[in-house]
Amino acid sequence: MVVANQKGGVGKTTSTVNLAASLALHGARVLVVDLDPQGNASTALGIDHHSDVPSIYDVLVDSRPLSEVVQPVKDVEGLFCAPATIDLAGAEIELVSLVARESRLQRALSAYEQPLDYVLIDCPPSLGLLTVNALVAGAEVVIPIQCEYYALEGLGQLLRNVDLVKGHLNPTLHISTILLTMYDGRTRLASQVAEEVRSHFSNEVLRTNIPRSVRISEAPSYGQTVLTYDPGSSGALSYLEAAREIALRGAHPHQEQHSTVEGKQ
Ligand code: ATP
Ligand code: MG
Repeated sequence: MVVANQKGGVGKTTSTVNLAASLALHGARVLVVDLDPQGNASTALGIDHHSDVPSIYDVLVDSRPLSEVVQPVKDVEGLFCAPATIDLAGAEIELVSLVARESRLQRALSAYEQPLDYVLIDCPPSLGLLTVNALVAGAEVVIPIQCEYYALEGLGQLLRNVDLVKGHLNPTLHISTILLTMYDGRTRLASQVAEEVRSHFSNEVLRTNIPRSVRISEAPSYGQTVLTYDPGSSGALSYLEAAREIALRGAHPHQEQHSTVEGKQ
């Protein structure tokens, strides 16, 4: 699952790590690939990512096997992370002159031999070669949307990029999931934005919204997901519920679609 939106600060990283932890807590084996030079997903999972740590940069630029950079996440059985270091900031330019520059991540993932149920890729807030690598490697795209005024601006460009990659490099790629984040039910704006997104993407939007929650935003400073930081909080419960929807859709994609259509009628 490619977690992407070129808009910054919409909840990509927060959603990646918390959905991944939710799936792992239910017994799945899950790998988080941190594809953002900021390394926020690595931080949130408590993974060391100073510049000497073997990282996804080495995988993309030096063809190092993914298995040599993957680290287990403390506290959550079955959860793993391929960290990003600041080196990755240069990869966007270094990749340009390399062969198969768009499919380096895809090659690394297909050569990875450990059993996995899910791979979640946290993208940077841009549509450059790093995000293209994620789109080529992925099966589906998950778009977090922050329930604020400019939410839908720029979304068209992301959709066009997904179509381009689908047309040329990865024919099965599709947008499977839209997740509404930082939802504040008390404001009219949030519910208006949610309504508008639902009217455009009725099949893709998850029923579960992620509420704005202080616990969610505090968790990364302890190197934890909200699932271990405060398992009973509304934020933790909403990510668990969103992950449940994703897992059920994956298991019965047609049934789920059918029931959504019926629900609308
Ligand atoms: P970037 O584009 O920089 O990678 P992003 O899309 O990955 O950003 P996050 O880093 O996940 O976005 O979130 C942006 C900020 O909003 C962070 O400080 C995060 O802690 C906070 N945040 C995310 N989700 C919530 C939430 N549901 N409630 C409160 N704060 C949140
Ligand atoms: Mg991020």
